[in-house]
Amino acid sequence: MGQDNFGKMKSHSEPGPGDGGKTGSWRVKRPIIDLTVCIPAKSGKVACFACWMYCPDGVITRTIPPVIDYEYCKGCEICAEECPVNAIEMVEETQFADKEG
Ligand code: SF4
Ligand code: SF4
Repeated sequence: MGQDNFGKMKSHSEPGPGDGGKTGSWRVKRPIIDLTVCIPAKSGKVACFACWMYCPDGVITRTIPPVIDYEYCKGCEICAEECPVNAIEMVEETQFADKEG
């Protein structure tokens, strides 16, 4: 159990290397949050965070704006499915390969 940035207790465990190591390397698609659409990012208010709540790996922060830890995100797409305003787009990892080497 930890604390989020707003001082509330949370049940999420923190992401960390398990037997699978840094699981972000498994990802085929990367979730990208459009901060012009994301409710807390747009409003500056503590609201929504459905992505944080549903991410099975606990790799999205409950902050304004939400931040995804790509070292551990597996690209399961649940966050994109659960976002009520479709602010999360799944982008092929190959789109980033040239820029990140
Ligand atoms: S679910 Fe969508 S709108 Fe809600 S915090 Fe996450 S990205 Fe923003
Ligand atoms: S794609 Fe899956 S693992 Fe990655 S942030 Fe979204 S819900 Fe979490």
